[in-house]
Amino acid sequence: LPTRRVLMEEHTEKKGRVPIGVKGKRQKRIVVTGGAGFVGSHLVDRLMERGHSVIVVDNFFTGRKENVLHHMGNPNFELIRHDVVEPILLEVDQIYHLACPASPVHYKFNPVKTIKTNVVGTLNMLGLAKRVGARFLLTSTSEVYGDPLQHPQAETYWGNVNPIGVRSCYDEGKRTAETLAMDYHRGAGIEVRIARIFNTYGPRMCIDDGRVVSNFVAQALRKEPLTVYGDGKQTRSFQYVSDLVEGLMRLMEGEHVGPFNLGNPGEFTMLELAQVVQETIDPNAKIEFRPNTEDDPHKRKPDISKANELLGWQPSVSLREGLPLMVSDFRQRLFADSKLTGA
Ligand code: NAD
Ligand code: UDP
Ligand code: UDP
Repeated sequence: LPTRRVLMEEHTEKKGRVPIGVKGKRQKRIVVTGGAGFVGSHLVDRLMERGHSVIVVDNFFTGRKENVLHHMGNPNFELIRHDVVEPILLEVDQIYHLACPASPVHYKFNPVKTIKTNVVGTLNMLGLAKRVGARFLLTSTSEVYGDPLQHPQAETYWGNVNPIGVRSCYDEGKRTAETLAMDYHRGAGIEVRIARIFNTYGPRMCIDDGRVVSNFVAQALRKEPLTVYGDGKQTRSFQYVSDLVEGLMRLMEGEHVGPFNLGNPGEFTMLELAQVVQETIDPNAKIEFRPNTEDDPHKRKPDISKANELLGWQPSVSLREGLPLMVSDFRQRLFADSKLTGA
């Protein structure tokens, strides 16, 4: 029996309802949940550039209309205010499912809501994928590895996650979302793709979202001390957003389910990161130590051999190259803010 997807494509082809995109490829109808957020809005830009028809579904918890304002009025673009915890009916070919706050400050703000978003929200989007035969991509996280006992982390590692901690709403939520995706894949034949994203930074991050790169950059620009939590020896690997978007699109278009680590293997301690921020913005910026948050993973660095081999993907923007691009965006927005407030 032909799959529902094939039936749907035949149906739309016969009716001639599938226009050709700007680059000569068939235009797809793509929903991006969380598309008004940091990563989502950059992904939307690339999909629009390719001539696809894009629907953003976002409840604006951490996303902003400003991030997608430049597409308003384009007939290929649609913005729907909707919470993915509620069901939604759409007719699409692909679903990029990003809806979920990513900063620890935001996801801990209402932990039960974070779990609902990850579990019920993902279930709804998988239900949608099943109904219309769409391909579904989940943006999972390096946090599924918890406080890892394996370094660097490969996709085969099952992780070391506290199920009852303050970060569990996010990391256990994403682990359940991965489980749901695999069960829909095995049980209902849904085409799924799973990305495990490592710390990503770039323009359009919320200025005060509490993540380390945005904090340090905003602090240095505001002439405030850089707040290093704990002893600053914990490590993270920082990926520039354009590298991530390229990886997500390759994953969606490729034939492999994953999971795939998408991250930059360049590993920095928080003190080293503070130093790069000093070099980029203000060599005189002071460093202030603060107590660390609970359950903070000690180290994190992706093993990206699998994505390299099967998707032909690797990041190309180093921290020292990417940071200035984020700094000019932050500078502009902070300056605009201060004009507005008269500060
Ligand atoms: P973000 O907070 O900027 O964007 C998340 C978007 O989802 C926002 O626009 C928000 O309004 C929307 N959203 C949240 N809950 C929703 C709900 N219930 N219904 C509809 N919309 C909802 O975060 P981001 O950095 O762009 O992250 C995007 C995705 O990538 C998230 O799923 C996150 O878990 C994942 N991820 C990001 C990183 C990173 O470093 N940026 C790392 C690992 C995983
Ligand atoms: N769902 C949705 N949009 C759709 C199809 C399903 O939001 O187009 C939701 C649906 O409300 C349900 C979830 O996705 O809560 C899972 O759907 P599925 O059909 O897999 O399960 P069932 O409805 O049979 O429990
Ligand atoms: N961190 C820090 N100063 C800050 C914010 C965060 O030193 O102002 C540290 C935090 O303790 C963690 C690392 O930076 O060890 C990364 O934190 P972030 O919230 O960016 O992301 P996470 O990887 O923890 O999800």
